[in-house]
Amino acid sequence: MPVDLVVIHNISLPPGEFGSDHVERLFTNTLAADAAPGYGDLVKLRVAAHFFIRRDGEVIQFVSCLQRAAHAGTSRWQGRARCNDFSIGIELEGTDLQPFSPAQYASLLPLLQAIAAVHPIGSIVGHNDIAPERKTDPGPYFDWRQIYAALPQRCPKSYQEPSSPGL
Ligand SMILES: [Zn+2]
Repeated sequence: MPVDLVVIHNISLPPGEFGSDHVERLFTNTLAADAAPGYGDLVKLRVAAHFFIRRDGEVIQFVSCLQRAAHAGTSRWQGRARCNDFSIGIELEGTDLQPFSPAQYASLLPLLQAIAAVHPIGSIVGHNDIAPERKTDPGPYFDWRQIYAALPQRCPKSYQEPSSPGL
């Protein structure tokens, strides 16, 4: 089916720490259970996003945009369930608790433009928008206004407004 949705996430491993290879290892099923405390259940997951953007703006692709990736989980957008079937997932190295880096936006915006040039993207949303009972990412510090400014026809109108960091 057509890919018409982009989902923005945040992730950091160990939680709140940046710069390790643990996210790449998680997404390639090579993360060791003893790499950090509390990874026992995490390493059993079989998940990946299409893209991961590090704090310095480096973009790493794990899954072809022509293939399904397991990033959304139980989810629904505009009445359609199973968002993995029709979405591209982009993970930003980060947390719900702090701003993303300028370098990450500098990589994300052209990546979104490139995806939208190839796929009939109708909406760019947060993981929290498609799984509001379970997920909060990318969180209140993600600057949707930058996305709206770059791709206004593909963003919910509400993203024009400033979000409210520091809930
Ligand atoms: Zn997520």
